Amino acid sequence: MKIGFIGLGNMGAPMASNLTAAGHEVTGFDIANAPPEGVQAASSVTDAAKGMDVVITMLPNGAILRSVADDIIPTMKQGATLLDCSTVDVESARAVADKAQAAGLMAVDAPVSGGIGGAAGGTLTFMAGGPNEGFAAVSPLFDVMGQKAVHCGPSGNGQAAKICNNMILGVTMIGTCEAFALADKLGLDRQKMFDVVSTSSGYSWVMNAYCPAPGVGPQSPADSDYKPGFAADLMLKDLRLSQQAAEASDADTPMGARATELYAEFVEHEDGAGRDFSAMLPRFVSRRRS
Ligand code: NAD
Repeated sequence: MKIGFIGLGNMGAPMASNLTAAGHEVTGFDIANAPPEGVQAASSVTDAAKGMDVVITMLPNGAILRSVADDIIPTMKQGATLLDCSTVDVESARAVADKAQAAGLMAVDAPVSGGIGGAAGGTLTFMAGGPNEGFAAVSPLFDVMGQKAVHCGPSGNGQAAKICNNMILGVTMIGTCEAFALADKLGLDRQKMFDVVSTSSGYSWVMNAYCPAPGVGPQSPADSDYKPGFAADLMLKDLRLSQQAAEASDADTPMGARATELYAEFVEHEDGAGRDFSAMLPRFVSRRRS
């Protein structure tokens, strides 16, 4: 397949590399980064999109996606697929899909879970929204870049699945961190807490696979002084997307709202920027009941 790849950052560059390694012809463009080895350099977003069977975008946010989509949609080959793997708001995903479909293209929104490690190892999970033919057209690429792809329904539903998942993740991380901080105050050893909770009803991916307490559970960013991993800034971005969607759809999400406030305080007014999202644990430990 001839593939255009726009947005060659922490996630996009290794994803594009995996596609070339699997034998696809990939042409890439990024406003700040040179393409990785094996990916041909395009001179602009339109240069990366013209004549391609699939154009993949991996960009920071919905506003940038909309602007790139406005530039590339008129230049794309009829019947080609625009595959957006960025995490963006549901409205932007649906607006871009509508424009692409009106121009005779197929559009699939397929944000990912698995982070930089999953992008490098080709083990991402894709959650996709869009028509069946679009999903079928890009499924071979999901197989190269990831280990699982779930078709979640029409356009925008991939983003809906992503922000619901990450709202659970943010809320669970906060709950787990405050429980560890409470255990400290009660004189309960962290290892004992892990031994109990990881096999009791409080277990979760956060506790069992990504434990926020250093030296406890499997290796995680807590063991590397909270170097990300999944940065608190990105957690905040995703929580804000969940709240934007909750507001637009009139959904009551009080825990998601509080998690958003706590991550906003942490990233914007404390020392959370650039730290892993599990660094909420030392934050809670350093505070008193308010
Ligand atoms: P990043 O900032 O490293 O990469 C984004 C890239 O887009 C940058 O290299 C930037 O120069 C480029 N870019 C910005 N505007 C552009 C434009 N107009 N034209 C071309 N290129 C442009 O971010 P990332 O970590 O690679 O994340 C990309 C997306 O994946 C985000 O939406 C993020 O939320 C999502 N995501 C990230 C992770 C993670 O762990 N990093 C995990 C899951 C999902």
